[in-house]
Amino acid sequence: MTWIVVLILGLVLGSFFNVGIWRIPRGESILFPHSHCPHCGKLIRFYDNIPILSYLLLRGRCRDCHKPISLRYPLVELLSGGLFVFAYLRFGWDWLTLRALIFISFLIILSGIDIDHKILPFPLSLTGLILGLITAVLPSFHFGFIPALVGGVIGAGFVIFAWALWRFVLVRPFARIGVKKKEGMGWGDLPFAAMIGVFVGPKGMAVTLATAVVIGVIVGLTGRLLGKTRPGTEVPFGPFLALGGLVGLFWGDWIFDLYLRLVIG
Ligand SMILES: [Zn+2]
Repeated sequence: MTWIVVLILGLVLGSFFNVGIWRIPRGESILFPHSHCPHCGKLIRFYDNIPILSYLLLRGRCRDCHKPISLRYPLVELLSGGLFVFAYLRFGWDWLTLRALIFISFLIILSGIDIDHKILPFPLSLTGLILGLITAVLPSFHFGFIPALVGGVIGAGFVIFAWALWRFVLVRPFARIGVKKKEGMGWGDLPFAAMIGVFVGPKGMAVTLATAVVIGVIVGLTGRLLGKTRPGTEVPFGPFLALGGLVGLFWGDWIFDLYLRLVIG
């Protein structure tokens, strides 16, 4: 029955993440004022603010002006509810679950902001990173300071490596075939990748980065083939890192060990 409580927690916090995704990049307080309809400005009543349910009952429209509410609101709620339950089923009644829930929360808010604004706010990544270190140091979380630190360094190191690779090796040949892009990665990716590393550890971070690059290449190529993106279109890398981070969190050690066994024997 505990999973139902975890699900409700995820849904309710998901509703709060929506507020964060909207307000944090705009420099607004996430607690006050209460939520308003973006179209007519009317205060959203507490009984219209129930995750998923309100959206269905109102058929995706504002009670006052009947303008559509973005489908993203229930989707973010569903996503966080689902991931919270999954983390609980994966790690059980354990401090590691609390650590995973903190991590998932930061991944959702930061990815949402990156998709909307193509930025990963430094203070937010830093807060996540500090929480990741604290929950690694506390003995009851039995994660360990060294794995967290090494994971963070690998994450930051990868972003610096990718930046240098782009800046000093790839930028000229790509410019010759018409691809012009300012940077391979934004600087917001650095603290974000470090934060992920702190939560998933070294093996998890290796899996995170491999997954993020593979998903990024697949999405990039698909976008080009379907004519959705042109060369040089800026695609935020944060959501790919976040997806990789989830794979790293849930199956990082397992995939890493399997890979070693298959390659080295
Ligand atoms: Zn309205």
